Amino acid sequence: MFSKILIANRGEIACRIERTAHRLGVRSVAVYSDADANALHVRLADEAVHIGPSAARDSYLRGSVIIEAAVRAGADAIHPGYGFLSENDQFAQQCAQAGVVFIGPPAAAIRAMGSKSAAKALMQQTGVPLVPGYHGEEQSPALLQQHADRIGYPVLIKASAGGGGKGMRRVDRCADFPAALASCQREAAAGFGDARVLIEKYLLRPRHIEIQVFADTQGNGVYLFERDCSVQRRHQKVIEEAPAPGMDPQRRAQMGTAALAAAKAVGYVGAGTVEFIVEPGGNFYFMEMNTRLQVEHPVTEMITGQDLVEWQLRVAAGEALPLRQEQLTLQGSAIEARVYAEDPDRGFLPATGRVHYLRTPALSDFVRIDAGVAQGDVISPYYDPMIAKLIVWGETRAAARARMVQALGEFQILGVANNVQFLSRLMATRAFVGADLDTTLIEREHAQLFPAQSIAPDSAIAAAALGVLRLQRLLAGRGLGAAVWRSGQAWRLNAQSDQRLRFQSKDVEKIVFARDVAGGYELRLGETVVLAPLPSRADTGVRLTIDGQVLKADVVIQGERCDVFIHGEHHVIERIDPLAHVGELAVAEGGIRALMPGRVVALLVQPGARVVKGEPLLILEAMKMEHTTCAPTDGVCEAFNVAVGDQVSEGSELVQFISEPTKTGC
Ligand code: ADP
Ligand code: ADP
Ligand code: MG
Repeated sequence: MFSKILIANRGEIACRIERTAHRLGVRSVAVYSDADANALHVRLADEAVHIGPSAARDSYLRGSVIIEAAVRAGADAIHPGYGFLSENDQFAQQCAQAGVVFIGPPAAAIRAMGSKSAAKALMQQTGVPLVPGYHGEEQSPALLQQHADRIGYPVLIKASAGGGGKGMRRVDRCADFPAALASCQREAAAGFGDARVLIEKYLLRPRHIEIQVFADTQGNGVYLFERDCSVQRRHQKVIEEAPAPGMDPQRRAQMGTAALAAAKAVGYVGAGTVEFIVEPGGNFYFMEMNTRLQVEHPVTEMITGQDLVEWQLRVAAGEALPLRQEQLTLQGSAIEARVYAEDPDRGFLPATGRVHYLRTPALSDFVRIDAGVAQGDVISPYYDPMIAKLIVWGETRAAARARMVQALGEFQILGVANNVQFLSRLMATRAFVGADLDTTLIEREHAQLFPAQSIAPDSAIAAAALGVLRLQRLLAGRGLGAAVWRSGQAWRLNAQSDQRLRFQSKDVEKIVFARDVAGGYELRLGETVVLAPLPSRADTGVRLTIDGQVLKADVVIQGERCDVFIHGEHHVIERIDPLAHVGELAVAEGGIRALMPGRVVALLVQPGARVVKGEPLLILEAMKMEHTTCAPTDGVCEAFNVAVGDQVSEGSELVQFISEPTKTGC
């Protein structure tokens, strides 16, 4: 086994590889770009090497710089993860030349599968079934059109060098073909540096089922069953599961054998995935082979009990495969959901921002999270917007699904748009529950997945009110009641009278009357009466009883905004005339002081920086959540009295700040 490996990747996959390396006693070397200097994968590794500016082409794609780093660090091998250099045959070759083992297949196998067209030609010779289509060298538009007409519409034009769901065009009519071809070729040339395309019959309501294969250098090969990755948006996977619902042992063996034949045909070594597209009747056709570890490999690990990264390291070190085909068994059912920084309501547009609040479900033998970010980290525009993968296991598919619903309900992210609520809804669709899977599932379930925006239910408004009450108590308890009085609100400590709290959800105003009762609060919203114990000061959780039913929710308050997580749904509720920005800052004699005890998680400006009113200066973590301290006026941030990681007490001076009068006009 190797004693040290370099991981030529970032994000969750780099962290995941580091974990296995650590367990095996193999030292790990991370690489990082400017944007990733404080990233989780750097924090988890034994060593880390800076490789360049933020853009991937200047850092994670610079093969020679990475190989040099590996040599200098004394690493025996390089794990490329997925994406970036993982399917770059030249990189694999350069590793070998530098005397560093590439943890992946031989360069020739990567090359053979690198072009979808060439791979299909090879599979045809091997007798692996193909979707009817054209994958020849000749690329004249007239000939391509002839083939499309012959195949019959709809057809799919695909970039031969494509990947990640990009460079594909569905064409429904002969007349639309020329324009679609031209645009596909443009995208292929720009995105993959290769304008060549292939044409396939476009299958209606197909399933994406793929086989995990593994081969060693001693001529052994096995398949670790299948994954169903049919639930996709923009031809990209969102949910994956294993085994594929409805798969019978005979078809599994057929597909497994076909996948191994494909691997054998290119002299494959290591982990690979053969992707098939499957017709409703069960006929399956080769789509492509991904010559690397796949994003969704954890579902296979959950049902087989194997660690595929360990297998990769062993095979790359020259060992035989840990198990033979007949020793591999499949147990239960596993589902993975990809948590992305993206906005489902805006066509799944990728989003960026700081994850200022992150709560994840408790981990267990049945719930696994592969994450590349922690609370406080930034999702930058430079890389893939995946935040984490949530993977669950159950005895049956129904049990796994139920566990996923629960875990998604406990997955709470603020600061960046994300798809968690969309995933929760996806889990609840009839099609998913009934395992009626195919690549059109998201379209078919559109109404349930994208419901009209509705006002927050009373339970969520009541939860928001409890969050506000907790914050008031907290501040009063810390002698900061003055801030509350300054807000001009009719609010009294230990008031016997009702306190009136106003909220707004989707332009509808909601009023909550809150009264102290023994051990808690009684809240009234119109006819609804809610009872709640005093919320804990230590975290964001609240409990409420409505009509004898006990509900749990989490409430995060920042300024006027209340984020309420309840029942797997996330509601943003506005507080009307809130406290005078509690939790922001106190300014005294030129310094900015901490309003509550906490830990400094980030300094956001350089000492000496001139800042404008409201500009974020530093982030403090208190009460398990983050509070951003902003400039109270325009001014100069002279110096920080604290460093990242420092624990500060309430009232201690954080920043030496000099106010400058706000200039008006120019
Ligand atoms: P799969 O591996 O299941 O086929 P995708 O094709 O969606 O899934 O994901 C692989 C591709 O996604 C990579 O080729 C890369 O372009 C991109 N990608 C996703 N996440 C990352 C990441 N953390 N680092 C690098 N590339 C990533
Ligand atoms: P990529 O390299 O981007 O992963 P694939 O060839 O693997 O490209 O296809 C990605 C997805 O596009 C598939 O999972 C499937 O949903 C859809 N797709 C591919 N080929 C076809 C086809 N012939 N008919 C219908 N859908 C297809
Ligand atoms: Mg694919």
